[in-house]
Amino acid sequence: MSFENLGLHESLLRAVKDSGYENATEVQAEAIPRALAGKDLMVSSRTGSGKTASFILPALQKVLEARGNNGQGFPKREKGKIYGPRVLVLAPTRELAMQVSKAAQTYGRHIQGLKVATVLGGMPYALQIRQLTGPLDILIATPGRLLDHLSSGKCVLENVEMLVLDEADRMLDMGFIDDIKLVAEATPATRQTVMFSATFAGHVGRLAHDLLNEPERVDV
Ligand code: AMP
Repeated sequence: MSFENLGLHESLLRAVKDSGYENATEVQAEAIPRALAGKDLMVSSRTGSGKTASFILPALQKVLEARGNNGQGFPKREKGKIYGPRVLVLAPTRELAMQVSKAAQTYGRHIQGLKVATVLGGMPYALQIRQLTGPLDILIATPGRLLDHLSSGKCVLENVEMLVLDEADRMLDMGFIDDIKLVAEATPATRQTVMFSATFAGHVGRLAHDLLNEPERVDV
């Protein structure tokens, strides 16, 4: 299916074109319109299926909507106040988080002054704190390190409108269940939640039941 018919903002379509992609993959065609409509989603799709763009494009559209004025410029901010991100993506590993971050920069290239922060374990705290406390659109993080920042009050998640759990089954296998729950509790209950997982059986299904609100299922 053509990207043109998915409901994406012109600046995102331009970025997709820059990447040389003509048609949306199956998971993109199924997930993007639903995500743009504000639905909670449970998505099962293989790596390599284009799943990253299927959540990062709707995430960038949220950013554009929050910016107003066609996405140009940052909303007016009260001095000294920490706003935190509009979109939070949790990923199991550094590699995956960095891949998501790169996709956010690529597809968000035409959004003026887009702020994407990547918060990973094993990296120095100082730069991460500066990014978390400054203007921020999208935060991509591994759960453990994010929880550290949350506990120390350096991370505010009260303005999160969209929460994405990428490879949720792997995060649970790595023992992140309590971290994920604490992070989700720090975001507004009114948020949109999108969950990606190879399976929704067992403890992943229970987590989906806890975090999602009348989710739609995409299985490709
Ligand atoms: P992912 O499944 O998100 O890891 O993406 C796998 C690869 O597919 C990445 O290299 C993407 O850049 C690429 N890709 C994403 N969307 C498309 C598309 N619509 N057409 C062709 N390739 C794509």
